[in-house]
Amino acid sequence: MNNEKVKCLIIGSGPAGYTAAIYASRAALQPVLYEGMQPGGQLTTTTEVENFPGYPEGVLGQQMMADLRAQAERFGTDIRYGMVTEADLSKRPFKITIDEEQVIEAETLIIATGATARYLGLPSESKYRGMGVSACATCDGFFYRGKTVAVVGGGDTACEEALYLASICKKVYMVVRRDVFRASKAMQERIASTENIEVLWNSNTQEVLGDEMGVNGMRLIRKDGEVYEKAIDGFFLAIGHHPNSDLFKEWVNTNEEGYIITDGHSTKTNVPGVFAAGDVQDPHYRQAITAAASGCKAALDVEKFILENK
Ligand code: NDP
Repeated sequence: MNNEKVKCLIIGSGPAGYTAAIYASRAALQPVLYEGMQPGGQLTTTTEVENFPGYPEGVLGQQMMADLRAQAERFGTDIRYGMVTEADLSKRPFKITIDEEQVIEAETLIIATGATARYLGLPSESKYRGMGVSACATCDGFFYRGKTVAVVGGGDTACEEALYLASICKKVYMVVRRDVFRASKAMQERIASTENIEVLWNSNTQEVLGDEMGVNGMRLIRKDGEVYEKAIDGFFLAIGHHPNSDLFKEWVNTNEEGYIITDGHSTKTNVPGVFAAGDVQDPHYRQAITAAASGCKAALDVEKFILENK
């Protein structure tokens, strides 16, 4: 069987992948997009998105991704269900294997595979996901106005999320597994001076508690063995993200945590013809709008690359 040849291959179907597809289609690059394991990406796991410009009444994450998909299709993107199982980026055209069987030869590649929030792995945590359990305070915090919530983690993200939640919630518990924060000094000071944040040191979550209405508490265990419960309405995880870059690491430079390194303000990786967009190359902002913007940049970078390498 002959390998299929593609001018621009996009991997990933979050805001970065679809935005890259919209721009690449309009530039007549005839992009092929593989949706990956979670079609629509992380936004399909949240409820309402209220901070994406252009939706004054907010929009369901699922709906927004369906709209982006439809927009990419309207301009001719060939959107396919499938997972990349192998990548050979040693030379152009790059050889990308889909579902262990089909090989695509891609002149250019946009990696927009996103990042996955880490969860504790408790069954009760999965049970209440979207019903009080969330890994994104910026996305879902607003729904807990005036309520009591918990943030798990002691890094900069956990502190940032706790501070954000403290500005809208009645009370915020921080569940920290050691007796120190990992976060920067400046963040620690801000936490200490925020009255409605209470840090529960040396504590790990045993169970997220709830009923058919959603989360209503958490059971924790302290290092000394004491088990205790707190009433909460929302349970936020901030124990880190894992960028989905493993398949490409052999070829593409990543930082210590696995985020793909891009060149300056561009989306260029160290491999000419391979570009990265969205959360897989952004440990910092991780917003739908910033991912979409980098998807746009990636398509423009591909267009320029193809022109220059004719
Ligand atoms: P970090 O890895 O820095 O912190 C993760 C936190 O979660 C740690 O406190 C860790 O505990 C805790 N943790 C990990 N696993 C578990 C678990 N299973 N149970 C309970 N707690 C757990 O991740 P962040 O997302 O906070 O930050 C990522 C990077 O981004 C960092 O370099 C950070 O500095 C940076 N960042 C900077 C910001 C800024 O400057 N404004 C804002 C946000 C992020 P332990 O310490 O015990 O390992």
